[in-house]
Amino acid sequence: MTEQNTEALDRIDQLIHTVADFPKPGIQFKDITPLLACPKTFGETIELMESQVLSLGADLIAAPESRGFIFGVPLAQSLDIGFIPIRKPGKLPGETVSVEYELEYGTDKIEMRSNAIQPGQKILLVDDVLATGGTISACQELVEKMGGVVIGTCFLLELAFLEGRNKIPDCEVFSLLEIND
Ligand code: AMP
Repeated sequence: MTEQNTEALDRIDQLIHTVADFPKPGIQFKDITPLLACPKTFGETIELMESQVLSLGADLIAAPESRGFIFGVPLAQSLDIGFIPIRKPGKLPGETVSVEYELEYGTDKIEMRSNAIQPGQKILLVDDVLATGGTISACQELVEKMGGVVIGTCFLLELAFLEGRNKIPDCEVFSLLEIND
């Protein structure tokens, strides 16, 4: 890590604000809206993500709505590769493939267009926060259901104490920032 990168990471860190008890009691919500309001530091965020994942040689980026799109689209543009949206049910036109996954209470479902990935394509998954890992492991399952290969995952922030990376054991995990407690 160069001194320049460390300074950029400090600037990024300063613009992620913690909001206690949102959206429900006990959750320390990581608010990225101050980062999005600062084009220079947001640009540095995408550049740092790009330098982490460049050597993977991904064919496509896939990301879950909605905050995954915020980082996934500019990163795909920087890498000059396509972007696939992963959405909640009923949002995508045409044929879709879906995966159901467990939440703390009940289940949720995500979908992708059924023609979005060709078998064997190398997919990089992107999201803002890695928490328990439930969302990203469902995204991995969806990509694999379509014959794609998840070659890595990239996050702005990892809540490492929740050990979400254990849910995607075969995946390389890149995160710009980590919180350990
Ligand atoms: P998980 O499936 O538990 O890894 O949660 C990841 C998803 O939930 C990401 O798409 C995040 O946007 C969101 N998320 C989970 N925990 C937080 C948090 N503490 N602050 C902000 N977003 C969160």
